[in-house]
Amino acid sequence: MAINIDTVYKQFGALKVVNGVSVDIKDGEFFVMLGPSGCGKTTTLRMVAGLELPTAGRISIDGADMTYAEPRHRDIAMAFQDYGLYPNMTVFKNIEFPLKIRKLDVRERARKVEDTAEKLGLGELLQRKPSQLSGGQRQRVSLARALVRNPKVFLMDEPLSNLDAKLRAVMRTEIKKLVTNLGITTIYVTHDQIEAMAMADRIAVMSRGNMVQVASPLEIYDRPKTRFVAEFIGSPPMNLFPAQLKAGGTVTCILPNFAHSLCEDERAFAAQIVDGNGGLLLGIRPEHLIVAKAGAQGATDALVELVEPLGQTTNIYVSVGDVRFVIVTDRTTVKAGDTIGVVAPSELLRVVANDDAVVRH
Ligand code: ATP
Repeated sequence: MAINIDTVYKQFGALKVVNGVSVDIKDGEFFVMLGPSGCGKTTTLRMVAGLELPTAGRISIDGADMTYAEPRHRDIAMAFQDYGLYPNMTVFKNIEFPLKIRKLDVRERARKVEDTAEKLGLGELLQRKPSQLSGGQRQRVSLARALVRNPKVFLMDEPLSNLDAKLRAVMRTEIKKLVTNLGITTIYVTHDQIEAMAMADRIAVMSRGNMVQVASPLEIYDRPKTRFVAEFIGSPPMNLFPAQLKAGGTVTCILPNFAHSLCEDERAFAAQIVDGNGGLLLGIRPEHLIVAKAGAQGATDALVELVEPLGQTTNIYVSVGDVRFVIVTDRTTVKAGDTIGVVAPSELLRVVANDDAVVRH
């Protein structure tokens, strides 16, 4: 089912938590809200669930206005980070619980529980209590309980945050596979950029109650619109330099040879940034910079300050005067104190706004 969020605001007293969020989530889409603590992700999710009412705006599900509808009328399931399992009930009874409330008959309940448990690899564990399960198994029981009644919309708030790194990686693929196979429209909240990138069809990057950019993971990575998005996604983050827009549509910055010719789409965007006095930045991902010999043609000479060998890749931190940035390369013999040439391929430089407020989408 499609979910439409239209100019939604939420205020708690004087505190503005959600500031006019608008987005259309498509039927069957896996939509991730990503942002730092306190940016309003959970509040937005809770308004979709009906656990919180908007101060203004409209939320519709499958075309019907649900802004003020009771949670139980929304055909939505929600899974939280703390699992919320009943410790004294078996896995079977935990999964069965939502069906019992809905007064399905015993045989129907058993069939659905077994079916869902099978899909989630819990078939062998139905008679255990939650205390006899691993973290990942508990997580799956919690998902099974949410999914057993075939909801049309699935909301998840940091469901993996209690798991260790290895299990998180396993569970994120399992969740993604599961809901994609079931075709359920999903909104997933996380502050973990890797999780967002790995799972999402589209990501909404949120900051201070706004969706700053909504796009596919690779679009967000390749073409972040604002400094906030550029710095939030990618590790180490994108290098950003204060830039100037020159006549003829070239953007330059303080580093010689770091220059980008704007294409048609970018011209409008750059003009919008300049008009909004937001400050224009030129950005490049660390792995797009190329290390060359000092003095090489088209390269900018830089002093190596620190080299971090990470095994597969190497981070090289450099400076040009008092401008500092980072390059990610394969293994290298470059060491601190060396002078190297750095090439920034013009087509891989990006125009980024220094100020979130000037970007509309
Ligand atoms: P986190 O990742 O820490 O959960 P979040 O992005 O999900 O962050 P929200 O939980 O939406 O953020 O909270 C946004 C802001 O609203 C926070 O400053 C929070 O303290 C505040 N807030 C949330 N619920 C309430 C409430 N019921 N009453 C007052 N303030 C609230």
